[in-house]
Amino acid sequence: MRQKIVAGNWKLNLLQKEARTLTKALVKHTIENAPNAEVVLCVPHLYLEKGNNWTYGSSIKISAQDCSQHSSGAFTGEVAARQISSVGATYVVIGHSERREYFKEDATLLTAKIKQALESGLTPILCCGESLEVRKKETHVEFVSGQLTQVFGNLDNTEIASLVIAYEPIWAIGTGETATPEQAQSMHQAIRNVVQVSTTEKIANEIRILYGGSVKPNTAPELFGQSDIDGGLVGGASLNVDDFCKIIDAA
Ligand code: PEP
Repeated sequence: MRQKIVAGNWKLNLLQKEARTLTKALVKHTIENAPNAEVVLCVPHLYLEKGNNWTYGSSIKISAQDCSQHSSGAFTGEVAARQISSVGATYVVIGHSERREYFKEDATLLTAKIKQALESGLTPILCCGESLEVRKKETHVEFVSGQLTQVFGNLDNTEIASLVIAYEPIWAIGTGETATPEQAQSMHQAIRNVVQVSTTEKIANEIRILYGGSVKPNTAPELFGQSDIDGGLVGGASLNVDDFCKIIDAA
């Protein structure tokens, strides 16, 4: 049985007081309702340590939204995976489509970041997903499979087994347009197949694959009900406590 994950990706949002208020409300909700899902908050680096303190006594995990490909040294402005781990975070998002697009992050860089994360004891949440253009050409399965195999080619089975994958069609991120449960399930099945071909059937059956792209309280139940969807990576709706609690409870 794969335990579902509901991860909230705050992106570049929330001032400290707002972040604290939201986190405290989520702590209360998870303590009172003991959700089935593992709840993860992907916070700006600035709140990693605070997030860990605010969630003390609850099962909520803290994630970074990115890490450096370097472990230390003269890289001004960067934050190393081992620094992230040293303040109590346990996950890190790698290769979000916004980083691939705006910061030109490619498979070589993402693989280096994954290696840093794993060496530091963090679980990488590796994102993949196609643009609207690719979806319209109906080459989305090949595209996403390619994104994954380019990274998997430089990882061994143990490393691949340590990942969480997030499928996030770019056309659904922040647009209010969600993939239908059938579209999402079909891509998740294809992704699990890529994992199986790259590793083993056991690893493919155990790896968790999250869906991301305008997940909302009304769409979460059906999406999370699909056999290959193991929870969600949630952007906008994770900033609203009521919406995010409903999504957590849907998993
Ligand atoms: C995301 O940030 O990864 C995301 C899926 O955002 P949204 O839920 O707002 O589409």
